[in-house]
Amino acid sequence: MKILYNARIYTLDQVRPLASVIAIEHGEIVAVGGDELRSAFERADRQDLQGYTVLPGLTDAHLHLQHYSLSLQKIDCETDTLEECLQRIKERVQKATAGEWILGHGWNQNSWSRWPAASDLDRISPNNPVYLTAKSLHAAWANTAALKLAEVGAGTPDPKDGQVQRNAKGEPTGILLENAVTLVSNFVPEPSLAALADAMEKAQPILWKMGLTGVHDFDKRESFLALQELHAQHRLKLRVTKNIPVELLDSAFKLGLRTGFGDDWLRIGSVKAFMDGALGPRTAAMFQPYFSESENKGSLLLDGEQLFEFARQAADVGLGMTVHAIGDRANHEVLNAYEQLRAYETEKGLPHLRHRIEHVQLLHPDDAPRLAKLDVIASMQPVHATSDMLMADKYWGDRTPLAYALKTQLDAGAHVAFGSDAPVESPNPFRGIYAAVTRRRLDGSPGPAGWHPEQKLSMQQAVEGFTTGAAYAAYAENRQGCLTKGALADLILLEKDPFSCDPEEVKDLQSSATMVAGEWVLEN
Ligand SMILES: [Zn+2]
Repeated sequence: MKILYNARIYTLDQVRPLASVIAIEHGEIVAVGGDELRSAFERADRQDLQGYTVLPGLTDAHLHLQHYSLSLQKIDCETDTLEECLQRIKERVQKATAGEWILGHGWNQNSWSRWPAASDLDRISPNNPVYLTAKSLHAAWANTAALKLAEVGAGTPDPKDGQVQRNAKGEPTGILLENAVTLVSNFVPEPSLAALADAMEKAQPILWKMGLTGVHDFDKRESFLALQELHAQHRLKLRVTKNIPVELLDSAFKLGLRTGFGDDWLRIGSVKAFMDGALGPRTAAMFQPYFSESENKGSLLLDGEQLFEFARQAADVGLGMTVHAIGDRANHEVLNAYEQLRAYETEKGLPHLRHRIEHVQLLHPDDAPRLAKLDVIASMQPVHATSDMLMADKYWGDRTPLAYALKTQLDAGAHVAFGSDAPVESPNPFRGIYAAVTRRRLDGSPGPAGWHPEQKLSMQQAVEGFTTGAAYAAYAENRQGCLTKGALADLILLEKDPFSCDPEEVKDLQSSATMVAGEWVLEN
């Protein structure tokens, strides 16, 4: 039994929102209260939290744990100069074993004086293959050893939707654009299961420091295998909701796997399908063309009927759906399918599951209230609003009042759950909270008012998205995202109180100590 006292505890429980003492036993909260609780439970260990603020551990409701964990192991190529990047690569090459692939991410030729080339890498890594993805993920930079292994040469034709950058003699320069990146990436060996599990374990303290104790994972089979390995070895110290790719729906259906199966560490979430592409490459499915591209409306990867067929099969075994939808047309089609699905659930006497839409980036005005009406969760990433704002203005123009419209969803009464889509963005939830509350980037742009300030959330709403909202989406609202009797003892300590400090200070908040299942897993 542990008693934590002298704290400013935000419980996220409407019955008792603030407390100063919390009692914990066997990884769960047994009591929450005021000073009267401080001397209760004779045999308890008592810890003075010195007035720190306590929040429930935060959950990222949309993250790619495998890709994020592996990205942490790559060389960070986001440097001011090409020379600095080459220096980092050189240091890694010196430690590498023979034949080991040297991987990195984050370069951007616009911040450098010129495009990099294979020859730059050949000087520092003549033998080890080097493969470095650009920050945009729309380009990659390889050395000659990597190009040789992949058999990319002057005679290699450009693949569909891709281009091998070439010199005057037609020889590859080492830069691969768009789809051409796969010419080399297909040869990068997949990490072993043990290596992936290790990478995920190493990611945990980084996530705890950011304030996260839970994630909803959107990676696939390898990720699930590695998570089960960590779980079996008691190395998993994050609460993970594992979503299933729609390609495996048949297998899950045959097996009879259901949403919610598992335990407090690892549980089955929903079936993930993709309705469309993304805003950056203008592949998100739109009702009206993108600005300055009169022909392009993006495209649907599925139509509403096909999605309903998947959803019906899933519903028959008790699996919920979670569907990626960016453009207004894509969201419209998902909502139509969900409308049919709700009718089907009712007709068959099936439970009304907590279906979700991932991103909900742009809605048609007629569709804005439909998530609430159909009781569909809006799983959104507040930080996308500010990182995408310039692109959204450029490509969507006057449609942006209903882009990244977090407040519209809350006002309509929809359940929301917040995440980051890491590694696309940093998984730091305080960056997401900051974006939700200020609608500004870290550099202050687009100005004090923020982008579409009418969509700003209160601190309470923003924090709820990463706590109670994410917990609801995982069917775990009694266990996660709140600090009440019977909930898991997952919590974070903050030096500043986000509810009373200047919102500008919120972006730099990090956890001073993180508790998972009643144990301090991170202490400063
Ligand atoms: Zn994602």
